[in-house]
Amino acid sequence: MTLADELAQLHELQKVDYQIYQREQALKALDSGDALKQHAIDVMKRHDTAAAALRKLEAEQRDAELSLKTLEAKKVAVHQKLYSGRITNPKELGDLEKDEAMLAGQVGHQEEVLLDLMYRVEAAQTQESALAAELDAAKRKWKGTVTHTQAEAARLQKELAALRPERERLAARVEKPLLRRYEEIRKMRSGIGMAVTGNEMCPACHVKLTPHTLTRLHEGEDLTFCDNCGRILAWEK
Ligand SMILES: [Zn+2]
Repeated sequence: MTLADELAQLHELQKVDYQIYQREQALKALDSGDALKQHAIDVMKRHDTAAAALRKLEAEQRDAELSLKTLEAKKVAVHQKLYSGRITNPKELGDLEKDEAMLAGQVGHQEEVLLDLMYRVEAAQTQESALAAELDAAKRKWKGTVTHTQAEAARLQKELAALRPERERLAARVEKPLLRRYEEIRKMRSGIGMAVTGNEMCPACHVKLTPHTLTRLHEGEDLTFCDNCGRILAWEK
């Protein structure tokens, strides 16, 4: 077999090898979704905290409403007692008036407490809702990425499974020393061990070849390498 024929076979192998290389790189570059998962967990924690704060405030609001009702009932009872006509003792009447005034003050204060709590509950609800929406979006993004990654990985693995036997078949046709050389270069040079050119440029690294290298390439008697990247070169027929 002539060197040109050997190189032509090597070029067939290179084509399949590069398809394998691209798919292997694509597999490595797939997003595992781990960062998105972590983000979703972080948002979930913030949402849990906000939801707990909301529940606490809602409980405080219920307590405050109950206290207000109790105070109002007390105030009404004192008022009724005061104007029932049953109490005639001036001292007792005076005490009841004082009680009513004190309870009125307490009711007023409790109304302010309740109003403040209502505002805080509303703010907490807004925050909780926003975080619930953010959590929902984060979960959807994470799951979407995982689903996409799984589908992509399956597709790439399937293609690799078809390419690898083809690769073995083609590699078996290349002379062992040339194959070894090619493999060494390919490992170091982004999956490309050989290139075919029809002009004065190396198609792999895009650097102009020296006249000496070009002459050797044209003669086709010895194995020729790119002056710049060291890849095996073949002249396009
Ligand atoms: Zn080159």
